[in-house]
Amino acid sequence: MPELPEVETVRRTLADVVTGRKITAVQVFLPRLLKNAVPQVFGHTLTGRVITSVVRRGKYLRLVLDGDKDLLVHLRMTGSLIYMPADSGIPGTAHIVFTLDMGILVYCDVRTFGCLWLVPKTGKTGIKGYDELGPDATDPAFTIDYVWPLLHKSRRTVKAFLLDQTVVAGLGNIYADEALFAAGIRPSRRCHGITKRELIALKKAIDDVLADGIAYGGTTIRDFVNGSGREGENSENLAVYGRQGRPCPRCSTKIAYVKQGGRGTHYCPHCQK
Ligand SMILES: [Zn+2]
Repeated sequence: MPELPEVETVRRTLADVVTGRKITAVQVFLPRLLKNAVPQVFGHTLTGRVITSVVRRGKYLRLVLDGDKDLLVHLRMTGSLIYMPADSGIPGTAHIVFTLDMGILVYCDVRTFGCLWLVPKTGKTGIKGYDELGPDATDPAFTIDYVWPLLHKSRRTVKAFLLDQTVVAGLGNIYADEALFAAGIRPSRRCHGITKRELIALKKAIDDVLADGIAYGGTTIRDFVNGSGREGENSENLAVYGRQGRPCPRCSTKIAYVKQGGRGTHYCPHCQK
């Protein structure tokens, strides 16, 4: 699933080409991707609107428009939003096509778990996962002072804590595993047993793995592509995620893989205490 660096990569690649463009037509080939509008209302609301910016919060992408509503998108497992020149033709895999006054914006989704909503410009959206998001992992509000009291009183595992989008928005399985490795913390550790010194290391590790992920254009395991249709190159930087049975880059111990709270979890049994 695309996480913060992947969605941020999509945001950046799209912002360059769609900002200032007008939506001139909308075609919906798979109506169930729209979560709070029928295709007719969806198309009517968006047609004629100008995209004024593209913003991101956690794993959500928001196309800010000049009308009453914005377009909110969650790519879930395999969604992609790709800008193409007008003459490239509509790909056969397209589920939604936004024709712009220059080019087309195409939503494709192999597993069709993605979600698109029309949302008001301010206030609550009524979308539970969105309205309850904690601070973005790249937001200055995500500080040690903010996390420490939440961590200290939690009896969950630190991995589950990091994946909780109401605590911090944007981390998923890949970057949580990578950050815990970089900080030397075992994913199964209980939050209340983590020291402040360890939290400081973890916060720095989160900052670093996300910055790397963004700098390398996101991690492509299978399906992820950016807003230009290109794969990310961060998978080469991964130390533990997807590397079970292979040597730890630090100590050469075999990377372990366990299911923890239903999520595949990768760690080094030697380096992570
Ligand atoms: Zn190791």
